[in-house]
Amino acid sequence: MKMLPTVLANLFSKTATRNYPFFVRENFEHARGELINDIDRCIFCGTCARKCPSQCLTVERDKTEGSWTLEFFACVGCGVCVDVCPVSCLSQKTSHRPVVVERSVITLRGKLPERPVRHAMPDKAETPDKAKTAEKPAE
Ligand code: SF4
Ligand code: SF4
Repeated sequence: MKMLPTVLANLFSKTATRNYPFFVRENFEHARGELINDIDRCIFCGTCARKCPSQCLTVERDKTEGSWTLEFFACVGCGVCVDVCPVSCLSQKTSHRPVVVERSVITLRGKLPERPVRHAMPDKAETPDKAKTAEKPAE
């Protein structure tokens, strides 16, 4: 009989758990979830891959194109790559990636930004020597 008050209290009080999946709690505002790359802005510098603590990113590039590959099973969602990306094309959703049953990777491809045209420095031999070309003072 000692338990009766506790039993009655539990019977008529609000439940401590949610009836998942019918009631899903909203994600926390700053939760670190699914990693997203806005590949059109990516310059394929490879900084994210070099800094990733779990080495789940691979960045490859040739002269005109690049690829960015995420092994998302190995990603721990730390957000280091997001912090170090120089063009801020990486971001994280507050929700996690949907469940999948087969291990796979995500590969995104894009074009490299065009390099600015370099203007050649004038050849030293063609540069007029100031000392030689300077007019001599009238005698
Ligand atoms: S750090 Fe950013 S710009 Fe550089 S390869 Fe990674 S995602 Fe692309
Ligand atoms: S969130 Fe962390 S573990 Fe995942 S890819 Fe970025 S740096 Fe690597």
